[in-house]
Order: sequence, then C-alpha cells, then structure tokens
Amino acid sequence: MDQRTKRIAARTLLVVGPAIVATFTISFSLRWSLGLTIDWLGWIECLTIPIVVGTPIAVYIFTQAEKLQKTHEKLEQSFADLAKAHEQLSFVASHDQMTGLLNREGFLRHVDEQRDRSEGHYLLIVDADHFKSVNDRYGHPKGDEALVKIARALQYAVRRKDIVGRIGGEEFAILLVSVSKDEAMQMAELVRRQVQCIPWQTEDQDGSALTVSIGGAEVGRRRVKFPEVMRQADRCLYEAKRQGRNRVSFDYVLSAVA
Ligand code: GH3
Ligand code: MG
Ligand code: MG
Repeated sequence: MDQRTKRIAARTLLVVGPAIVATFTISFSLRWSLGLTIDWLGWIECLTIPIVVGTPIAVYIFTQAEKLQKTHEKLEQSFADLAKAHEQLSFVASHDQMTGLLNREGFLRHVDEQRDRSEGHYLLIVDADHFKSVNDRYGHPKGDEALVKIARALQYAVRRKDIVGRIGGEEFAILLVSVSKDEAMQMAELVRRQVQCIPWQTEDQDGSALTVSIGGAEVGRRRVKFPEVMRQADRCLYEAKRQGRNRVSFDYVLSAVA
C-alpha cells in the first residue's frame, strides 16, 4: 500500500469510526426512549449502515482532496520554475553576454532607478581608442578579448555601488554614484590608468597598450533628461579624442594627459 492510499484509509477510518459511534448512540437512545428492545438486527444496522454509506463517500472526498493537493503542489512548482525562468530571462535581456556587464537598456534602467533614489552623480562615457586598428592588427577574437579585459578594468577601478555598462561596440558607460566633480574626475583618471595598465601581450610582443578616452558629465537633477547628459558626456569624449586620445575630459576641460 503506497503512502497516498494509507493516508486516505486513515482519514476514512477517522470519519467512519465516529460515525458508527454516533449511529449507535442516536439509534439506541431513540429505541430506549421509545421503550423498544435492542435486538441483534439493531446492532448490525448501526455497524453496517455507517460503513456502507460513509466509507465510499469518505474515500471519494479524500481522494479528491489528495488530487487537489497534488495539483496545488504542481502549480507551486510551475510558479517557482516560471519565476526562475523570468529571472534568468531578465538577466540575459539586461546584460551583455560577452563582458557580463549591463547592456545599454540594463544600464539606462539602473541609472533611472539610481536617479530616483538619490542625486549628485556623474556619468562617464568610456570609448576604446583606435579599436578598429586593434581588430585589424590582431583579429576580431583578440579584439573581443581586449573588450573583456577593458570591462574588467572598469569594474576594478570603480566602487561596488557604481554602475558599469557596455552601451555600444567598444563603448562603455559608468555612473559614479554620489560624487563631487573632483572625485568624479579622479575616478575617471583612475579608470583611464587602469585600462592603460592592462597586460596586453600579443604574439609579436610589441602590441601597443590598450587605451580609452573618457568624457564626463554631471547627471544633475531629475528634470535634466538623461539623453541630454549623455550628449554632454559624448561632446567631452569627442574633445578627448580630438586632443589625441587616452585622455579624460569634463566640460571640455582636459583633466589629464597621458
Ligand atoms: P576611436 O579612437 O576614434 O574611437 O577609433 P575606433 O577605431 O575605436 O573607432 P571606430 O568607431 O572607427 O571603430 C570602432 C571599432 O570597434 C570598429 C568595430 O569593428 C570595433 N568593434 C565594435 N564592437 C566590437 C566587438 O564586439 N568586438 C570587436 N572585436 N570589435 C568591435
Ligand atoms: Mg573607439
Ligand atoms: Mg566608439
């Protein structure tokens, strides 16, 4: 006998048992009060009627209850599986597969959430320098490897609470959370140096260092639209490129030169 059948039998017994006792009590007290005799037929009636009537009904009800319980468990499992799949899907949808960083949509969403929580942030747009030449010289797979290394360097250079994303092919973005302009410029400089220090040895051993140019802009209050902040950071980035690359620029002011 399996566990389920045992459970149904035990519950049936729990119902039919008291039903027999109740039948005996009611029937015998009625007979006694009416002055009727209690014969052997009365005993058999009181014993068999609750068993014959009660057992199939109890078995049916408890079998249905078991089925309902099983269905409920299956539903709960499906719900948990769905929640897990949803979590995995939203991770895949908001992250860049190659570097593991947030992708553009994921980055913008995190920035939005952060702007709802607090103010005083700075945006850095970080663009790999002469990356087309890196691909041309070492091949696309090696270029991919370089992008992963740059992504690691960016994560390493900033704090845990800062938000890092890959917003384009060889373009990254960082939201420096709750910093002053001076701190933001220092951190941008740290990012630039961190990338420059990446061990980047190729087979011919004469590979030039990987470098990035960085444009920074204050994120400001909520009413300043983020695309406008990005345009401002992009203008600074362009200025850093124009001045020779491997540089940091805030408000068109070059803060450091390699
Ligand atoms: P600049 O210093 O002006 O930014 O020069 P650049 O060569 O980096 O810029 P450009 O926009 O001319 O070229 C970007 C290059 O980045 C071209 C493209 O093949 C490469 N790139 C973009 N995404 C990827 C990628 O996922 N993997 C690899 N290996 N290369 C990529
Ligand atoms: Mg570039
Ligand atoms: Mg670019």
